[in-house]
Parts: sequence; C-alpha cells; structure tokens
Amino acid sequence: MRGKLVAGNWKSNGDLAANGRLLGQVRAGSVALKGIEAAVCVPYPYLAQAQQGLAGSSVAWGGQDVSQFGAGAYTGAVTAAMLADFGCKYAIVGHSERRSIFGDTDAMVAQKFEAARQAGLRPIFCVGESLQERESGVTEQVVGRQLDAVLAVSGVAAFSLAVIAYEPVWAIGTGKTASPAQAQAVHAFIRGRIATGDKAVAEGVRILYGGSVKAANAKELFAQADIDGGLIGGASLVADEFLAICRSAV
Ligand code: PEP
Repeated sequence: MRGKLVAGNWKSNGDLAANGRLLGQVRAGSVALKGIEAAVCVPYPYLAQAQQGLAGSSVAWGGQDVSQFGAGAYTGAVTAAMLADFGCKYAIVGHSERRSIFGDTDAMVAQKFEAARQAGLRPIFCVGESLQERESGVTEQVVGRQLDAVLAVSGVAAFSLAVIAYEPVWAIGTGKTASPAQAQAVHAFIRGRIATGDKAVAEGVRILYGGSVKAANAKELFAQADIDGGLIGGASLVADEFLAICRSAV
C-alpha cells in the first residue's frame, strides 16, 4: 500500500453552495495531481453532494465518524453500510474531537474501526496525545494504548487496508505543528508497534500526520521516512491551500 494520501476533514463546516464550489475546485485541481491520493471527509448530510461532485475523479470521499452498531434502533447513528452506500472509501474513527467532546472511548473506537472495516470501508484511525500527556513524557504509552485497543479487536492484518493518523491533540486547530522530528519519532513508534504483530503490514500501512498542516509546512513533514501524507482540518476548506498541500506530498 504506502504511497502518500492527503485527506481533508471538513469537520462541521460548509453548506450546499460553499461545498459545491469547494468540490468543483478540488476536482479541477486534482487532474494535475499524479502519484498521490486525495480524499475529503465531509459532514454526513453532504455525502451525496460529495459523491455527485467527485464521482469519476481521482478524489475519494468519506465520513468523519461511523456508528459502532449496525442497522437498528440507534437514533442518530450512521452505519458503515450507509457510508458505503454513498460510495465512501474512508471513515475517520477516533478523532480527538470525538474522543474529548463526544466521549468516544478506546473500546468504542475499536468497535467503530471494526464496523467500518466489515462494511468494506478503510478506517482512518486517529491516535494522539494531549499536551499534558506529552509534557509528562507518556506520548508512547497513550498512542500505544490507543493502537492496542484496535489491534485487540481487529487484529494486525486489518491494518493492511486501514490508515493511521497521528494527530497530537495540542496541534489540532491550534496553529502549533509538531516539528518534523517530533512527528517522525511517533510515526516510527507506531510503525514499530504494528511490526511487532506483522512486519509486512507495518511496512505497507499509511501513517498520516495531522495537526495544523498548511502548504508552508507540509513538504518538510511529508519528507519524513514514516510520514505518508496528512489529515488536514482547517486548511482543507480552502481549495488552493488543500491542493498545494496535496502537491507537497508528490
Ligand atoms: C483535524 O481536524 O484532523 C486536523 C488536523 O485539524 P487542523 O488541520 O485544523 O489542525
């Protein structure tokens, strides 16, 4: 697998008119992108719009979360099969905003990962430490625990079609980016952890960096040996910036 992936996370932003413009611009700009994969993860109500706007282009689309349950009496929840029905390739699971604001636990994230996988989606599985955890020197314990929760449920082979996103919580939406060396160190740790289960899977799994990535800092981050692209929040809402980040991954 490997090869670079740049995925946008629109979060709770956009409306029909703004999305239409953004999807059109990303689609037009994607024609010149060779050798990398781009994707956008949009709010649920706009999945049909993303599907219509991007079908037949090289840009994939996905959801920003997924239910850990299947069909049934789970009011408000969106199943993995529903995402697949709208042509999604990806589903983000375990984003730090879901963990900290909506109470997603490691166990829930592992169930969501597994639900996505079983529906044929590729989970973009987010891990990352808070500022306090980094300053206390427990980054590897935290990221290791988050990884182990999913490994225990889905097994290491499941990572051959999954994507991991290392997103230090202190860097998300703050304008503070991890230095390339800081990010590389955690990415190497993550790959090493997967390698303890299966070396070939570890070699192939894409590990994205997320946290205040912009066109100005993307190239240096993406040049690190274990950084296989980015998960982009705020900057993915501006087509020129998002496309410039995509070009930095080539
Ligand atoms: C994110 O939401 O996954 C993210 C990385 O956000 P930002 O790029 O805005 O820091």
